[in-house]
Amino acid sequence: MGYDLHIHSTFSDGMLSPQQIIDEALRIGLHGLALTDHDTVSGIDVAMEYAKYRNFPLIAGIELNTEIGPFESHILGYFIDWHNDGLISRLSELKESREQRAVKMVSKLNSMGIDIKLQRVKELAKGDLVGRPHIAQSMMEKGYVFSVKEAFEKYIGQGRPAYIPRYKFQPSEAIELIKSTGGITVLAHPGLLKNSSVINELLDMGIEGIEVNYPEHSLEDTERYLNLAIHRRIFVTGGSDYHGSLNDGRGKLGCCVTKDDVIDEMILYAGR
Ligand code: AMP
Ligand code: ZN
Ligand code: FE
Ligand code: FE
Repeated sequence: MGYDLHIHSTFSDGMLSPQQIIDEALRIGLHGLALTDHDTVSGIDVAMEYAKYRNFPLIAGIELNTEIGPFESHILGYFIDWHNDGLISRLSELKESREQRAVKMVSKLNSMGIDIKLQRVKELAKGDLVGRPHIAQSMMEKGYVFSVKEAFEKYIGQGRPAYIPRYKFQPSEAIELIKSTGGITVLAHPGLLKNSSVINELLDMGIEGIEVNYPEHSLEDTERYLNLAIHRRIFVTGGSDYHGSLNDGRGKLGCCVTKDDVIDEMILYAGR
């Protein structure tokens, strides 16, 4: 067991609070974790406070969703200064644009005869960012779909009738933003990106690590990205992309981890 460096809480689209995640991590014997909510740092203060109380190693992180041409690429940041003014103001702009998008998606669904309420979607978002998983949940509650997955496949996934794209960062901006707060950048789940020239292009932008161990990576993927990391002399990380048990897909907490000695190197590198 090492550190699980890829976890989402209720502050983005996960099902568990940071406190519940830390309790669970202690129960299963993880050595530490990073909270990497999508496009938000709002959960880190409470998570840090609780981690201190439980004496559990917690790394401040984030996962920024970026776009490179037609591809979606996710960039992880670790050991970030989550109180950095530049970071906070950029993230609040993103939050605002997500809210406007949720309004549009709900009204689109309404016009298709799906009677869900924006109010309820926002309640489901609890902490902070409104996302498609919250819209999916409210559709499930009302019996329009049986699962979150079905909602994506039929209505809100890319290319489906109620899909509306949202504002995304350019990878170069996301990398700069994370580094400007003292953070380390890691390319999330390259196996989902597949395209190796895009992966190389992203790494050439100065990304300092690669998420080699990931639940949806095949053995070949894992080997390929491990070799790439060794070749480029960048950090080899791993994480589960845990979203809590109810949210379908991705992994179980602690199913993919980062080795303790890599964490030690990252701490040295980040100077934290
Ligand atoms: P959003 O950020 O609002 O565009 O929503 C993206 C999130 O939806 C992702 O981070 C996943 O957690 C979730 N998601 C995307 N595709 C699917 C899918 N096919 N089934 C279930 N969840 C999905
Ligand atoms: Zn997510
Ligand atoms: Fe991701
Ligand atoms: Fe993720």
